[in-house]
Order: sequence, then structure tokens, then C-alpha cells
Amino acid sequence: MSRYAERVVVVTGAARGIGAATAKRFAEEGASVAVLDLDESAASATADGLGAPKAVGVACDVSDSESVGSAVSAVVEQLGKVDVLVNNAGVTRDNLLFKMTEDDWDTVINVHLRGSFLMSRAVQQHMVAANYGKILNLSSVSALGNRGQANYSAAKMGLQGFTRTLALELGPFGINVNAIAPGFIVTDMTDATARRVGVEPEEFRKGAAERSPLKRVGYPQDIAAAAAFLCSDEAAFITGQTLYVDGGAKI
Ligand code: NAP
Repeated sequence: MSRYAERVVVVTGAARGIGAATAKRFAEEGASVAVLDLDESAASATADGLGAPKAVGVACDVSDSESVGSAVSAVVEQLGKVDVLVNNAGVTRDNLLFKMTEDDWDTVINVHLRGSFLMSRAVQQHMVAANYGKILNLSSVSALGNRGQANYSAAKMGLQGFTRTLALELGPFGINVNAIAPGFIVTDMTDATARRVGVEPEEFRKGAAERSPLKRVGYPQDIAAAAAFLCSDEAAFITGQTLYVDGGAKI
């Protein structure tokens, strides 16, 4: 498949997890890929393993406007343009409301919401000039509410409103904006959650699989496949949508 031949794709938080799998999928479909992450050497190591026509690893803290500006400039300088942006970078700072610190709140809101805003604002000028672009935001089933995640669920539901609004504003410039809301996906993030609640990751996955209608957990490749569809020209008439990729389990 080469749906992404000649396309340049930027994935944030792509050194590992869902971002790395998504970067890999786009590379397999012919894209040149920029892997953005906090740690430049981790980003470059992932980029080197993609087998993309061209791949670069770029240091970027998505919550910092200067860092975002330099990273997007570096991508355009090295790869020539930006056709697709996947706002994937994420963190959790879970706590019940009465224990949640202002730092827990700000960190999560800043990475997910401010980060997606800064990245989208930085790439849109290149997309508008080309009259072409795809922006994909990573929401979550936690947007619907999840105990211990007031910060994260607010950010993830916020991203759904952000997605709708960007679709309205950028549609006239040939830009589609959608979101994916994953359910339980096996990554370092869900393993860390397991440890935080005192359960072995393997047990935690088993529980999630049992609660799912499909009787299994999700894997980063499940999200990558949906991302590769939503950012493709086959999905050209889809915009402003949030696709739940959760095996049917809205928890
Ligand atoms: P992950 O394995 O923890 O990977 C997240 C990546 O984002 C890491 O490489 C991390 O870098 C990077 N990152 C964190 N803060 C950043 C920042 N300020 N700027 C740039 N990069 C940053 O997480 P994941 O499970 O793959 O999740 C990816 C996305 O999917 C997140 O938005 C998450 O909320 C969403 N999601 C995940 C699940 C799930 O079940 N896993 C479910 C629903 C939604 P470091 O390694 O340096 O920290």
C-alpha cells in the first residue's frame, strides 16, 4: 500500500507507544515521517527504525510554543512540508479530585490541550498555503468520565470540541480534522496505571479484556490502522468526527 507516497507526516510523542506504531504505519504506506518527542535521541532512534523514505527525529515539548515553533521549522526545512499532523503526545497524572494538585492538573492540560493547540496552529499555515492537510487528535474513552482522571478526561473531551471547531475553521482550506478516542491500549501508559493501582500489568490487561465485548485489549497497531484511514484521501469527506476505537468498551 502506498496511500502516503510523497506525503509528510508529523507524529508527536512518537518515540514509543501509540505514536511510534502510528509513525511506523505511515512509513509502511510510503510517507516521510517526523518523529517528535521530548528526548531527541529516543525520537531519532524510533525514526531510524521506521524504514520510511525519509524519517527525522526532532526534539519537541509540545506544551512549549518556542519548542513547537523550532520543531515545525526543522520538519519543513528537512522534509519540505507538512501534510499530516497527529497530535499524540500525552501524559497522565491520575488522582482523585481531593488529592489532585494544581501541578497534576496543569501538566495534563498543558500537554494534551495546549500542546495540540500549539502544534495545530504552527502547522496550519503550511497546510492552508498548500490547500491540503489532515490533523488527527488523540482523545480517549476517558473523555466520557473516568474515576481519578478529572484532568485527563477534561483534556480529552476538550480535544473533541477542539476537533469540531478546527474542522469548521479549516475545512474551507482543504484541511480535515478528526479525532480517535482509544479504549484500553497496551502501552507504557496503561502499564504505569496498573502499577499505580497496585495490579500487575498482565492482570490489569486481563481485566480490561474481560470487560470488553470483543474480549481483548487493544494494541497500538489498532490505533495506527484507524489513523492511517482517517488521514487518507479515502476519508476525504470525513471531518470533525471522533472515532471510538475501543473494542466496544466505553470505560
Ligand atoms: P506513552 O506510551 O506514555 O507515550 C507517550 C509519549 O508522549 C512518550 O514518548 C512521551 O515522552 C511523549 N510526551 C509526553 N509529554 C510530551 C511533551 N510535552 N511533548 C512531546 N512529547 C511528549 O502513551 P501512549 O499510551 O502511547 O498514548 C499516546 C496517546 O494516546 C496519548 O495522547 C494518550 O493520552 C492517548 N491514549 C492512550 C490510551 C492507552 O490506553 N494507552 C488510551 C486512550 C488514549 P517521554 O517518554 O519522554 O515521557
